[in-house]
Amino acid sequence: MSAIVAIVGRPNVGKSTFFNRLIQRREAIVDAVSGVTRDRHYGKSDWNGREFTVIDTGGYVLGSDDVFEKEIDKQVELAIGEADAVIFMVDVETGVTGMDEDVAKLLRRVDKPVFLAVNKVDNPQRLQDAVEFYSLGLGEYYPISSINGSGSGELLDELVKVL
Ligand code: GDP
Ligand code: MG
Repeated sequence: MSAIVAIVGRPNVGKSTFFNRLIQRREAIVDAVSGVTRDRHYGKSDWNGREFTVIDTGGYVLGSDDVFEKEIDKQVELAIGEADAVIFMVDVETGVTGMDEDVAKLLRRVDKPVFLAVNKVDNPQRLQDAVEFYSLGLGEYYPISSINGSGSGELLDELVKVL
């Protein structure tokens, strides 16, 4: 069975863009199970010959912020439950948000490898800005740009080592 990698994080950080990059030219599998898993997408990927399944967690934008945050927590918990490793994505354009801190709190308690991916690092200035994500207490991070692909090789090299 192929290892499972979940991409989690608040909306708009670039999870789906990265997911699509990982599963390039492959067909995304939309989970047929209705209910709680309906907005998670699964796809096959591989790096240096190591195959794995990627989960792109969605999350609906619901009415209140409260419900919205609960939905994200639920998605994160479900994804973590079945994943062998987690990519926690944040966004350097916005910087650290309260929602990032909430997800980080959940992840610090998880006994699985967590890779903090600081996305939208499209240029050197943003590489400097990324240091603020140390404050999430998750240690080292991987600066990446899901749009131009930079940094993703370094992240994937480390990721497949734990699968
Ligand atoms: P998700 O909600 O986390 O799945 O985020 P999406 O993948 O839908 O991306 C949200 C927005 O961020 C879109 O407008 C993307 O084009 C943009 N985006 C994603 N990755 C990058 C990146 O590496 N750099 C920049 N500048 N924008 C990005
Ligand atoms: Mg998405």
